[in-house]
Amino acid sequence: AATVLTIGEILVEIMATTPGEGFGEPQPLVGPFPSGAPAIFIDQVSRLGTPAAIVSRVGDDDFGRLNLNRLRADGVDVSGIEVAAGETTGSAFVRYRPDGSRAFVFNIAHSATGRLSLTPSAEALIERCDHLHIMGSALSAPGIAHLAREAVRRVKARGGSLSFDPNLRPEILQAPGLPEALDEVLAQCDVFLPSGEEIFLFTESKDEAAAVTELLQRGIGTVVIKRGNQGASRFDQHGRIDAAALTVDEVDPTGAGDCFAGAYVSFWLAGADPETTLRYANAAGAHAVTKLGPMEGAATLSGLNALLAAQNGKDP
Ligand code: ADP
Repeated sequence: AATVLTIGEILVEIMATTPGEGFGEPQPLVGPFPSGAPAIFIDQVSRLGTPAAIVSRVGDDDFGRLNLNRLRADGVDVSGIEVAAGETTGSAFVRYRPDGSRAFVFNIAHSATGRLSLTPSAEALIERCDHLHIMGSALSAPGIAHLAREAVRRVKARGGSLSFDPNLRPEILQAPGLPEALDEVLAQCDVFLPSGEEIFLFTESKDEAAAVTELLQRGIGTVVIKRGNQGASRFDQHGRIDAAALTVDEVDPTGAGDCFAGAYVSFWLAGADPETTLRYANAAGAHAVTKLGPMEGAATLSGLNALLAAQNGKDP
């Protein structure tokens, strides 16, 4: 089976247990949970049985070990995760506001991930993978961006495929060199997975249908738009397919897009038809929001089948 590789940050997430404006006063917390968008993505790929690997860097601390142990237990090849002595693994404190938006305190700017480089084990994975998945967060930090762009060039040059999830949080939009890096990766990607309005950061057009047409004309094979609790849509030269959101209890939306993308890539690489691929990706996104903790909702195939079967039962 095809091997999927991703590159980027690993961190832990620690969550406030009650909604509120932020962290201005002592409060009960839960966690640490394994996290980092690329880590969540690759965990989902592996849980579906697709060979999966990640190039990353953690500190020699409990937060790093927590992630390593989880990824390893879920079958991810962790040979490309460097454990950096004397450095720390990043962390994010998250509190949901009463309106559902999130307040963050990040400790990632000086974390081990920021000094990721082309180690021999990273190079071996880049040479060996069949598919590469890149996220916007990996293009916003100068150290990682250099490595990610190099990996894109190498994987594409030997005929591998590329998926790209811009995942552009407001705090990374101002990163130096980001627009060039985004354009370079977008131009080479086979599957582009923006969320909602994010597509307009990449197009002249501000109308969705026209924006999709523009991207397909630029040579991007497939555009998949994630729409949160409104489901998802997939576009290619043959037209459009929609998936209505499944009905689930949303406990924690963090990680939904990463699990969606992980399932999408797994099914696509396995040769599933477009409807099936979108249906399972949509189910993986829905499954993800039902669990507290960003990686906790990554699903197995039987978990997705159970969720889809239960939904069919709900239809009139
Ligand atoms: P991102 O995390 O990248 O912003 P979304 O929030 O759009 O991504 O979620 C990704 C996908 O997960 C959606 O396209 C949908 O398929 C699924 N999803 C997300 N939230 C829900 C929800 N509340 N109910 C059902 N499905 C959801």
